[in-house]
Amino acid sequence: MNQQHQDLIDRDRKVTFHASSHLRDFAHGKAPGRVITGGQGITIRDKDGREFIDGFAGLYCVNIGYGRTEVAEAIYQQALELSYYHTYVGHSNEPQIALSEKIIELAGPGMSKVYYGLGGSDANETQLKIVRYYNNVLGRPQKKKVISRQRGYHGSGLATGSLTGLKAFHDQFDLPLEGILHTEAPYYYHRGAEQQGMSEREFSAHCAARLEEMILAEGPDTVAAFIGEPVLGTGGIVPPPEGYWEAIQAVLNRYDILLIADEVVCGFGRIGADFGSHHYAIKPDLMTVAKGLTSAYQPLSGVIVGDRVWQVLEQGTGEYGPIGHGWTYSGHALGCAAALANLEIIAREKLTENAAETGAYLQRAMADAFGDHPIVGDVRGVGMLAALEFSANPEKREHFDPALKVGARISAAALEENLIARAMPQGDILGFAPPLIATRDQVDEIVARTRRAVDRVTDELVREGAL
Ligand code: PMP
Repeated sequence: MNQQHQDLIDRDRKVTFHASSHLRDFAHGKAPGRVITGGQGITIRDKDGREFIDGFAGLYCVNIGYGRTEVAEAIYQQALELSYYHTYVGHSNEPQIALSEKIIELAGPGMSKVYYGLGGSDANETQLKIVRYYNNVLGRPQKKKVISRQRGYHGSGLATGSLTGLKAFHDQFDLPLEGILHTEAPYYYHRGAEQQGMSEREFSAHCAARLEEMILAEGPDTVAAFIGEPVLGTGGIVPPPEGYWEAIQAVLNRYDILLIADEVVCGFGRIGADFGSHHYAIKPDLMTVAKGLTSAYQPLSGVIVGDRVWQVLEQGTGEYGPIGHGWTYSGHALGCAAALANLEIIAREKLTENAAETGAYLQRAMADAFGDHPIVGDVRGVGMLAALEFSANPEKREHFDPALKVGARISAAALEENLIARAMPQGDILGFAPPLIATRDQVDEIVARTRRAVDRVTDELVREGAL
């Protein structure tokens, strides 16, 4: 590492508190740092000038790739005109209006209004408030509980961290908050001993039955909403088993429970459709979007409200007056300008179609390279989302001893190959979500580097007697 890079990291250690890091180890120089200085296409560059293929598009968000001057130009032009004015009490800006029209058009029939935030967490916070408001207006003050799923990821605030169904997000902060519950994850590979003989469809029916049991145990008149990602993301990149969403929606309809589709990862092309909901024929009442909305050129998120909910929200005006909800930066003009330029590129370059086609190629290439690998238990994914799940004994689907940190070691070995692939936070799972501009050649390169990394750690495990 060159001296300039080292100096920057040393300065950073003294003053910055990093997300998802080992606080003490980083502050005291025991965990590595890296300063990223640039990016082009699917590649990022650090202060040493070392280049990495970003196989995870930042945090599955830089969908159009790095260095798109067209987006930078749109932000600049908007900043010259108007960088910001608030959007309270009917104030608006031109990019916000054009963007809302575009989002409603893409979201399809039944979707009515967009409320903006800055990230996925604050958007889901808005969702929770909408759900409460909706039931207050309907005179059902007891119908307020929200059901999420184990391994779901919906943010890391107090309420949204409660929706998230991952242990680390709960234990450290005394969560979940009351009134937020978690039902079984649609994780076919991890199905329990009693579900061994089940087909995917049977397992979906089982998940729906578990949800219904929970609703009945809580009392259907106390359950307001269900939230889920079309494809479980941070919880392990797990596409739903066949028939899952159909079975879940039948249960929700039976008990008048709203469905919130968290499209933060899937939205705007990631799995080869405009939304994950379109791909899986989900009919949500509310949708959450962020990440791919701007490809992270500016922070921006949105809550898309369906007609059914909107009709009720409007009725609240008589009783409550103006809604007591608002962020300073809602509808930020620079965010909306970036989103419009980003969505224009996605449409013009047919990136959603590329995510379907090159994504299918990615899935085949992963299956060819790892289908029979001695430490790979599951190869899965959809579109430009893929995962490898490692196993000490793939036939028996045995997990590795967590102390071996197999997932993290393989991610580190990939980094040695100048490839970023993410060790997912729970289990030995390596995740991939390349920018949607990736070509077949680039996919081949990602798979080849991954293969070298997995083989290297496999050899180490053999030497250590862990296999
Ligand atoms: N929902 C989903 C599905 C996500 O993947 C994420 C972030 N990974 C969030 C919500 C939270 O978004 P943010 O980190 O922008 O608050």
